[in-house]
Order: sequence, then C-alpha cells, then structure tokens
Amino acid sequence: MFFMALFSCADRAGTMPDMIRTKILATVGPASSSPKVIRKLIEAGCDGFRINFSHGSPEQHAEFLGNIRDVEADLGKPIAVVADLCGPKIRVGMMDGGGALLAEGQEIVIQREPVVGTATRISTTLSELVDDVSPDDMILLNDGKLQLKVIKTVPPDEVVCRVTVGGILGSGKGVNLPHTQLKLSALTEKDRRDVTWIAAHDFDYVALSFVQRPDDVIALRQLLQEYDCDAHIIAKIEKPQALEQLDAIIETADIIMVARGDLGVEMDFPSVPVAQKHIAATCQEAGKPCIIATQMLESMIDSPTPTRAEVSDVANAVMDHCDVVMLSGETAVGKYPVNAVQVMNQTVATIQAYHDQVNPLARVTWQDSPTTAAIAGAIREIIAVETISAVAVFTATGASARMVSKNRPPCTILGLSPDMAAVRRMCLYYGVESRKAKLPAHTRDVLKIAETIARELQITSDGDRILVVSGRPLGTPGKTNSVTVHTVGTES
Ligand code: PGA
Ligand code: MN
Repeated sequence: MFFMALFSCADRAGTMPDMIRTKILATVGPASSSPKVIRKLIEAGCDGFRINFSHGSPEQHAEFLGNIRDVEADLGKPIAVVADLCGPKIRVGMMDGGGALLAEGQEIVIQREPVVGTATRISTTLSELVDDVSPDDMILLNDGKLQLKVIKTVPPDEVVCRVTVGGILGSGKGVNLPHTQLKLSALTEKDRRDVTWIAAHDFDYVALSFVQRPDDVIALRQLLQEYDCDAHIIAKIEKPQALEQLDAIIETADIIMVARGDLGVEMDFPSVPVAQKHIAATCQEAGKPCIIATQMLESMIDSPTPTRAEVSDVANAVMDHCDVVMLSGETAVGKYPVNAVQVMNQTVATIQAYHDQVNPLARVTWQDSPTTAAIAGAIREIIAVETISAVAVFTATGASARMVSKNRPPCTILGLSPDMAAVRRMCLYYGVESRKAKLPAHTRDVLKIAETIARELQITSDGDRILVVSGRPLGTPGKTNSVTVHTVGTES
C-alpha cells in the first residue's frame, strides 16, 4: 500500500515539465556569465548560481549578479545566488623562476616573512603558519601532489620540514594542513571586505570556506547582522577538523556543503565518500539542506559527454539524500556548461524515480519547532495512503517548507511566501518550487491561492488532491499548525 502510494505520486510528478526535486547549483564564470548562457542554464534545470569570490573583481561579480537577476525577472522564476567567500586558502609565495624541484628526502625551510622561494626556502600567504604547526604535522602542497613533514619548529620565524613526496613546486600553489588546528578564523580580512560588498548587493546565501568550528559560522552571522543582511549561511566542510564538531556546525549554519575538492586533499580519497554519507545523513536528521560539490562531472570541462563514473557519482549523491548537487569548473570555465546541467538534470530525474521506489519517506524530528515537525509528519502519513499531487506551504521565512522538504514527499512542494528573499532561499530546498504570494487575509483564501498557483505551474489539475499547509495567525513565523486535504476544483 505504502509502496503503491509512492508510485502513484511519482506518476503524477511525471506530468510536470522537467521537475526534478534535487536542486542544481552552478558556478558562474567566464564560460557562463552572459545573459544568454545563464538563461540556457536555467532552462536546462539550474536552480541557483554560485559566484566564487576566490576569483574576479567586484565589477565582474556585480556583472554576473546583474545578469542573473535580469534573466530571473525575464523568466519569472526565482533563482538563488550564493556568494562563496575565498576563506583562508593558503598559497605558496612567488617561486624563483616560477618553480623549483623539491626532491624526496631533502630539507626545506618555511619562513614567516615573504621570500622569493627556492628548493630549500619558501614562504606562504599565511605568515602565522609557522606558529600553528607542530613536529610531525603534514603539509601538503599543490593540491596534495607534494608532501612535507614538519621536523622541527625554529621559533619565532621558521619551520624545518622534510620532503616526503617530491615534485615541482610552482608559484601560488595551494597549501593544505590536514592535521593542524589553525588558530585563524575562517573569515580573513579579504572575506570581511567582500562581506561588506556582498551585504550591499542582492545575494541570498554567503558560503564560508574552510570552516573549522561553530564560532566561524557565528562570526559571519554577526557580521551579516551588523550590515542588516538577511542572507543565509552555507558552511563549507572542507577540513577534517570540521567533522569533529559537525553537529554544532550544522546547528549554527543554514546549509552545509560537502566541499569534496579541498576535503579530498586533506583526507585520503576513500574517506571522502564516507564523510559525504555521514554529513548528508546528519543534515537530514537535523533538518538542514546539504550540498554535494566538486568534480561531479569534471571531464565535461573539456568533453560534451560525462564518464560513466561521474554519472554514478551524481546518482549516489541523490541516493545519499543530498538536497543540492553543484557544478564548479564545468559551468564556470568549461566548454560545455549547458550540456553539464542537462546531464545532471537527466541523471537526477532517472535516479529520483528509482529512489522513490526503494526509499521510505524520511522521518525528521526537529527540535526548534515540534509543531512544524508534527505537521510535516502528518503530511508524510497522508501521502502514504492518498495520491497527492502537490503540497502547498504558506511560509513567512521558508522554514516550514524546508521542514516538509526534509520529509521527502515524492511530489512537488509549493513554497509560498510574500518575502522575495525567502522565495529565493527556497530554491535550494529539495523538492520545493517557490513563488511569491500574498499571505491570504482570510483562511478561506488559503486554498484558493494555493490552487491557483499550483494550476499555473501545471503541477495539478481538476480532481487532484493537494495538501495545503498554513498557520494561524496567518503570516506569523513559527505558527505553522494546520494541514488541509483539498480536492482541486472544489470548494473544500
Ligand atoms: P572551492 O570549494 O571550489 O571554493 O574550492 C569547494 C571544494 O573545495 O570542494
Ligand atoms: Mn574549497
């Protein structure tokens, strides 16, 4: 019976125009920043864009954002935009002649003050590195291709290391410290300047890189509050240290990103899928959305088709109950940005149908609002025994729609809010199709408005049953307390 109900709901979902429930977040860059390409990416299934503050100037970021907002207005479909802060990404300084060969077994000194690097002495962009490392710590260079081991610290200004895996070290290559708890905050001076700019522009999310502890997220939250900015926070999990305080980080953040690129440099590769599953499951339980990111369709940077392994990676992210899959270089600098989104969309659509059959609806217990959690649970029970074509949720902040989303009903959730910021945020919530809607003045209007928008979006038609979730008093955050089963085209 339960199984049958899931099937019938999935069948209904099949009548929707290309609606997939796992969201697609694409990084914009030179390959995708024109209004024409942005439009194609949205039409191919993209729900949000990431602007990476590790690259580009404020003028470029403003141009990207402006183009996205223009296309958004043109299509009448809300789009979430994420500003991704650079964070304390440590880099090697300038190298003499552009690079030097570090031979396995040799010693090399890292010094505090900037120096033109040689095979035996280098500096990094983080001068405090010499204070934070201890003997036996590992230092990875060039995305982990070269490895150093700290032999001794020579306070106050130097560290002596042995090269354990050698190779050519070029100027500006990345430095990762997998074992070192860095004293510095995830918010660098550059990030603080960027946040000032971001807060004055129309962003929905700010992503914080290299989060180590909940305090990093809290510091960004305070900064955003100082600027009166209501953007939500995405905590990027890309250091093993963050896994040790994962629950507290999830609690303080709004969304979590499994940033597998840097995570894969700081941990051995087989540990990354384990971390991905653990993070996704913990987010699911905590009622927070989870983004799986990096190298999902990497070969599509140069090729119009993906590898089979890449498609499996996207499929497995969906099976892990993630809410969002992300594209990075594929859409930012790749030759085939639109193909990449199409492949992702098709993959998610295929795996979603299978996933609905094999997975029972998820159960979420949400501490902040037990009533909302109970309503979401009631929806789950109704869907298990009735064919429901959509769940419409009236929500001031989007939180109720997120809660319903986390119960994974196998049909569209219509997130309706008068607040455009909430509408855009909901673009990254699994299964939620969000629209701006006036909060009804009278309870009887609740069903009418939900029905009208659901019809406009072609997710329901006469005779279908929809669920309508709202709260009384209408429009008060945290007051979601009712669910109605409504037959479309009738008075009740
Ligand atoms: P990045 O973060 O693309 O900003 O480095 C994602 C990752 O490290 O996976
Ligand atoms: Mn990263």
